[in-house]
Amino acid sequence: MTSTDSPDCLFCKIVAGDIPADVVASSDTAIAFRDIAPKAPVHVLVVPKEHYPDVPAFAASDPEGLASLIALADGVASEVADGQYRLVFNTGPKAGQSVFHVHAHLLAGADLPGFA
Ligand code: AMP
Repeated sequence: MTSTDSPDCLFCKIVAGDIPADVVASSDTAIAFRDIAPKAPVHVLVVPKEHYPDVPAFAASDPEGLASLIALADGVASEVADGQYRLVFNTGPKAGQSVFHVHAHLLAGADLPGFA
């Protein structure tokens, strides 16, 4: 499935340039842009240009693309933070996923709270 196969997808529209975003980096296969409602001093979303609903679907169909996305996130973290970061893929509504185009939340720039 390609981004053009999901015309109602918010992140497909950002990838296509139809909705503006604060893009901080891009590669052949992914783009990184600042979250519109940041939860940390650095909060960047890293999304593949191809449309996949969530990270398991992305990993199953394009593991190299997933690795490339993580490499882009790591590069962004080195540029806009100090290379220390949290990378989160919310998967499913119960986990907080609200946009069903796979995206990594790159969180950095502060001492982040631990889990549990
Ligand atoms: P999730 O809830 O894990 O699906 O994350 C979706 C994220 O997209 C949320 O953190 C939103 O703040 C963010 N978001 C929604 N619309 C936009 C937008 N137009 N530009 C940038 N980030 C957005």
